[in-house]
Amino acid sequence: MPVSAALSRKIDAKDDVVSMRSIVTKVRNVNCIEFYGMVSEKVDNRLSSEQIQEFNDHARKCHPCDVEYLIAATTKAVLREKVHCIPVPSDVYLAILQSTIGTPSSPTPEMRHFY
Ligand SMILES: [Zn+2]
Repeated sequence: MPVSAALSRKIDAKDDVVSMRSIVTKVRNVNCIEFYGMVSEKVDNRLSSEQIQEFNDHARKCHPCDVEYLIAATTKAVLREKVHCIPVPSDVYLAILQSTIGTPSSPTPEMRHFY
């Protein structure tokens, strides 16, 4: 068999495997915008198993999105390791909220934590 025919057959077989994998796992294709919207949920482990499959499937196919996720995951890991939680009195907490987002709508906390 000529090399080109063998190569063509191999490519067809690879496409068949990809198609079969999509059919068997029924992974929904997400686009880059949807992927970007899922990054922080993925970093915080808040995706369902189905969403994780969709997320990982896109990351395998799209290098820029994979890099975006790796940057977010690395940033979160560094923050977890380096930033320490400091308890603050409720009046300080409320003053910070009022100066940044306005009056808080939730009940007044006794003590909150800031990072
Ligand atoms: Zn992408």
